[in-house]
Amino acid sequence: MNIPSCITALVCPKCEQSYDHREIRHLCRCGSPLLVHYDLERAARIVDTGTIKNRPATLWRYQEVLPVLDDRNILSLGEGCTPLTPLSTIAKKYAFGKLYMKDEGVIPTGTFKARGAAVGVSKAKELGVRDVAMPTNGNAGAAWAAYAARAGIAAHILMPEDAPRITRNESVAAGAQVHLVRGLISDCGKILARSIPIHDWYDVSTLKEPYRIEGKKTMGYEIAEQLGWQVPDVIAYPTGGGVGIIGIYKALKEMRRLGWIGDKLPRLVAVQAEGCAPIVEAYRKKAKESEAFPHSQTIAFGINVPKALGDFLVLEAVYQTEGCAVAVSEKEIIEALLELASLEGTFVCPEGAAVLGGLKKLRDADWIKAGETVVLLNTGAGIKYPDTLQYNLPYCPVDGTV
Ligand SMILES: *Cc1c(COP(=O)(O)O)cnc(C)c1O
Ligand SMILES: [Zn+2]
Repeated sequence: MNIPSCITALVCPKCEQSYDHREIRHLCRCGSPLLVHYDLERAARIVDTGTIKNRPATLWRYQEVLPVLDDRNILSLGEGCTPLTPLSTIAKKYAFGKLYMKDEGVIPTGTFKARGAAVGVSKAKELGVRDVAMPTNGNAGAAWAAYAARAGIAAHILMPEDAPRITRNESVAAGAQVHLVRGLISDCGKILARSIPIHDWYDVSTLKEPYRIEGKKTMGYEIAEQLGWQVPDVIAYPTGGGVGIIGIYKALKEMRRLGWIGDKLPRLVAVQAEGCAPIVEAYRKKAKESEAFPHSQTIAFGINVPKALGDFLVLEAVYQTEGCAVAVSEKEIIEALLELASLEGTFVCPEGAAVLGGLKKLRDADWIKAGETVVLLNTGAGIKYPDTLQYNLPYCPVDGTV
């Protein structure tokens, strides 16, 4: 059955060249990622927030502003509509007005990469794609392998050998062809670029196809809906390739055009690890683009991206909303992780913990004012990172007491 998607075109944010969305497209001919455009006036006429409220609790409830045209192509594992959990103990401790965690740890595959994969693979199916291929640090590979399996599409995945074993196993179990590389994700990308023309695979590298952003932007729609179509003062996001923060910014602008939120947008904060902080460096220099970050390293492997293709879009989202970019040390990540687990019962991934580390710094500097409402994005489940914490615990003898 047809879905009333209001998609109109793929448009380049750099040179404004427009492309037909019914054809397979990757980057613009100028090299920029492409963004999906919708007829938002039409969307505002055919759907309102009251209708959306009564739809099933998945990201597909925003179908008018998603790119899939026929619901037979929708591949869903129930992704989206994740909880917006109040963190009241931590809010009190640091005098945030309200602090919420958008918890993507409970989504299928355990990371928010499922959103991009659900929409990306569904659209790939609609476009007749038979093979998807990508380089990954792990989480994206696991998510795309899962949805590709559901679609009956072959997945070809290149991972650095030190990508987490769990994501490797998930991808193989889902039937993906997984190649390990003795190198970084950038090396995986180079091998893929050489291989794609040989096999005619559909390149789903970060931002090289336009639809992953569309899946991830639904986090922005959900935050507004969960706050009663109000926006918070600040949304903070662990930034690697930048798809999430670009998507949330896109969602905010779309919702404003739809009349679902007011004029004021939240300040968007990009949080990075000190060991890989190209966006933070660029922000300090007030630059429009980032420079490749040398010898990047962090336990938060999902944000270990030395140079993102969409860096200029991340920086635009930060500047346009009067947000900022902040880096945290590995020690601060672990401290925040333990604080979240022990004070709130939320065992998050190191990327999510990094965000709390960043927010504490911004509160300390009074960049976030006492009383402001803040949303922290936790992008994945802590249980997907079994090696982040290492404890040597004392044993109790079996005939002993404690
Ligand atoms: C990929 C990833 C990120 C970074 O997301 P981008 O949207 O690419 O910036 C953050 N956290 C986790 C857990 C990830 O897997
Ligand atoms: Zn262009």
